[in-house]
Amino acid sequence: MSFRATILTLYPEMFPGHLGLSLAGRAIERGDAEIEAVNIRDHATGRHRNVDDTPAGGGAGMVLRPDVLARAIDAVSPEGDVRPRLLMSPRGKPLTQARVRELADGPGAVIVCGRFEGVDQRVIEARNLEEVSIGDYVLSGGEPAALILLDAVIRVLPGVMGNAASGTHESFETGLLEHPHYTRPQVFENREIPAVLTSGNHRAVDEWREAESLRLTRERRPDLLEDRKDQLAK
Ligand code: SAH
Repeated sequence: MSFRATILTLYPEMFPGHLGLSLAGRAIERGDAEIEAVNIRDHATGRHRNVDDTPAGGGAGMVLRPDVLARAIDAVSPEGDVRPRLLMSPRGKPLTQARVRELADGPGAVIVCGRFEGVDQRVIEARNLEEVSIGDYVLSGGEPAALILLDAVIRVLPGVMGNAASGTHESFETGLLEHPHYTRPQVFENREIPAVLTSGNHRAVDEWREAESLRLTRERRPDLLEDRKDQLAK
């Protein structure tokens, strides 16, 4: 079964974007992932095909109309479509590797990309849109956020990463940040690869990596250690 993403956007030409290259590109070519971008404007009516209007209550910017967006959603995701409906939004729940894995285990997603000031609240409620944020900063549109989410999801689909083991030890998968990496040359600008890594002692290597993971997480993301404690206590 392949992962099927339908993206609702005012800029369908932004897709598949970088997802057409490299690992994700090959997954799409093989049919393991499908990415379809649909123009919200195709579902607008009237002579001007307006998709947005001024905010009720006043203020700057424009808001995506609920009727146009609802028609677009219903057209690509009729009743019976079990895919989750996501709305890229800075107000959403921050995307995590755990949610990425969940999505990758499912049939796909319908992803709405906002523009302007965002979308009318009523369509979020009426179409049960799950708001997802990719971080605490504001983009000008949901498209790059959707590309990032899909990049993370496609990467963990079965068979996408050449070496299946790479992935499970990575940052966040263990609740920790990953240890540093080294490769040849042995000496780079007077800096040597830590001796333990070339010792051939696998156990010592594992211990070093685990200790480095913990050290980096403690230094940079103590919040992850708190989350992990809560997880282990459960
Ligand atoms: N006025 C809104 C920001 C709108 S930005 C606010 O203050 O919350 C325009 C669109 O970009 C949003 O509708 C959303 O789809 C997308 N976007 C911006 N920042 C994002 C983020 N951090 N994560 C996900 N989507 C984002």
